[in-house]
Amino acid sequence: MVSKDQIINNARKQGRTTLTEIESKKVFRDAGINTIETRLASSQKEAIALRDQIGFPVVLKVASPDISHKSDAGGVRVGLKNNGEVEKAYEEIMASARQKYPTANIEGVSVQSMARPGIEIITGMFKDSQFGPVLMFGLGGILVEVLKDVSFRIVPLTQRDAREMIKEIKGYSLLEGYRGQEPANIPFLEDLLLKVSDFLEQTPEIKEIDLNPIFAYKDGAVVVDARIVLEEDAPG
Ligand code: ADP
Ligand code: MG
Repeated sequence: MVSKDQIINNARKQGRTTLTEIESKKVFRDAGINTIETRLASSQKEAIALRDQIGFPVVLKVASPDISHKSDAGGVRVGLKNNGEVEKAYEEIMASARQKYPTANIEGVSVQSMARPGIEIITGMFKDSQFGPVLMFGLGGILVEVLKDVSFRIVPLTQRDAREMIKEIKGYSLLEGYRGQEPANIPFLEDLLLKVSDFLEQTPEIKEIDLNPIFAYKDGAVVVDARIVLEEDAPG
């Protein structure tokens, strides 16, 4: 099993401060945070073999330490239902990524199961010059991009912080199940934020994280995209 320390050391050895989606998800999964299983395929053949193991449908994304915004690179294909679609998606992703990022080191694609639709939420951490690590919570998609409907608390979070930061966003009623839609499991989300906070406390060499999006359901939640950025200098 590759541990958090090994993943971080490996990135540092390669002169990187950004962990890939696959590395970031592995680290969060090991911290007890429910994360979509995600594997690297370095060829079309490997992508199809992984699709076989995972079952349908799957999602393919460009896997490169140099590409953080995968959709912008034409690097995300969802809902792939058969080998033909996986093959085609692999080609298209590689062609698009190579064209948009000619100098990027592209490892292949990540293959992951397609999460069923849920309420999209996000959480992230940045380091404030005055307060230190600050955790952000909000609803995903246009609600965060356009309306900036997010809340903040200083890490480490108390249980009360977790509860309040979820409740105080303007879109909270969506989480309670707006107009007959499936609600989110609020205690599960509180627990998720506390796990993220614990993890950050134990890993001070992280500069920034992004769990965007997380799909929330009435019986839990799952991280479908993750990113970790390390501090420039390893603690020494
Ligand atoms: P980006 O690097 O552009 O942020 P994401 O990994 O977040 O790429 O993927 C873009 C979008 O595709 C997500 O916001 C989500 O709506 C959808 N998506 C990504 N991964 C999955 C998945 N495993 N299951 C279902 N939908 C997904
Ligand atoms: Mg994302």
